[in-house]
Amino acid sequence: MADLDTEQRGITQTMAARLWNSRWLLAAGVVAVVAVYALAGISAYVVLAALLLLFAAAILPAAGARQSTGSGAAIEATGLQRLSGEYLAAAVADPLIIFDRAATIVHANAAAFAAFGGIAPGMSLSLKFRAPEMQALLDGVLSGDVASDIVDYTEKLPVERAYRVSVSSVGHATDLYVLVFKDQSEARRIDRMRADFIANASHELRTPLASIAGFIETLRGPARNDAAARDQFLQIMQSQTGRMARLIDDLLSLSRLEMKPYLKPGTEVDLRQTVDSVIDSLGPLASENAVAIERRYADGPLHVPGDRDELFQVFENLLENACKYGQSGGRVVVSIAHSDAGSEPGIDVTIRDFGPGIPEEHIPRITERFYRVDVETSRTQKGTGLGLSIVKHILTRHNARLSIKSEVGNGAAFSVHLPAH
Ligand code: ADP
Repeated sequence: MADLDTEQRGITQTMAARLWNSRWLLAAGVVAVVAVYALAGISAYVVLAALLLLFAAAILPAAGARQSTGSGAAIEATGLQRLSGEYLAAAVADPLIIFDRAATIVHANAAAFAAFGGIAPGMSLSLKFRAPEMQALLDGVLSGDVASDIVDYTEKLPVERAYRVSVSSVGHATDLYVLVFKDQSEARRIDRMRADFIANASHELRTPLASIAGFIETLRGPARNDAAARDQFLQIMQSQTGRMARLIDDLLSLSRLEMKPYLKPGTEVDLRQTVDSVIDSLGPLASENAVAIERRYADGPLHVPGDRDELFQVFENLLENACKYGQSGGRVVVSIAHSDAGSEPGIDVTIRDFGPGIPEEHIPRITERFYRVDVETSRTQKGTGLGLSIVKHILTRHNARLSIKSEVGNGAAFSVHLPAH
């Protein structure tokens, strides 16, 4: 019903517009018919018929147009005619600037004011955007060489932002042009991160590979008949292949996590049982490093929603780090406690060591891929630099938080807050 009403209203408006547009033609026709009537003395009926014919001719194009383009298009056309350019510009989320033949700003939308401080109608665009690529873009469209064009442009201040800017002339012979800025900064940042990641991963694989290749060469050459050297070199080669395998495992772990960004809902994890099995599996490493593991668990059920294998991987990484990097402290405390403080009640699992700790300036970056406080220590401890980024990835999927507290010389505490629901 509402659609029919709108359609009828649209048709009436279209006809009214057509009549209004033909008003001079109609007036001239009426004058001509009346003049012929007065001068030639023809019948009033003939005049009436002529006037009706004239009226029909004035509205006929509207009906024709309606048939050829459909009633929706007719409504749309009248709607668009009434739509102000200002409203249209305001509805565009990207910065948009309308300018004239003299490259003077005629109008800018709110996004343009927010992105480019200090612009105002009446201001010269060439003075605001002095970069050569922007000047070339404006020159091209203003000289009429091209009707539209696109360039990449970087705005340096207040913060660096990369834009893809498109320019085009508006309508026919309006002498108005429009610039639209599409922000590409986030896409560029992701591209850079991906390139950095590939460079880092390749470097991490290349180092052990180069060492293996070097030893093979020595074994085939100078050490060919040296049994003692052969034994020693083979041992090093074995540990380097182990390092490469660990790195590939961690890379695959990360990519698997990225491939399934959402967690299967509805599964519960028993934290007591999961943390106990992590401690059991790392028993040999703890005793090798002479680290005693203490358990401090709250009473009662300690269940949270989540994926058991993934949470196992989180606590395994954290406990392994505590045993490796906090080895000098001689003990590690693993606690599970209810935490009702704050807005989100849940359970905290904390792994605390008493080793050298982590200097404050490293803490914000420690979960980044391949970030290590000390590269040599990480290598000798068989680290890949990916453990904590895997932890962070898994915790994000669980809506959980990782907090790290450390005092240099007094150990580090990694605390995982898992929401109860
Ligand atoms: P890695 O494979 O090198 O262990 P992680 O991502 O697990 O990588 O850890 C990143 C870095 O954080 C480590 O190289 C180490 O420098 C530091 N680190 C992690 N846990 C501890 C800890 N308990 N005590 C001191 N330093 C730590």
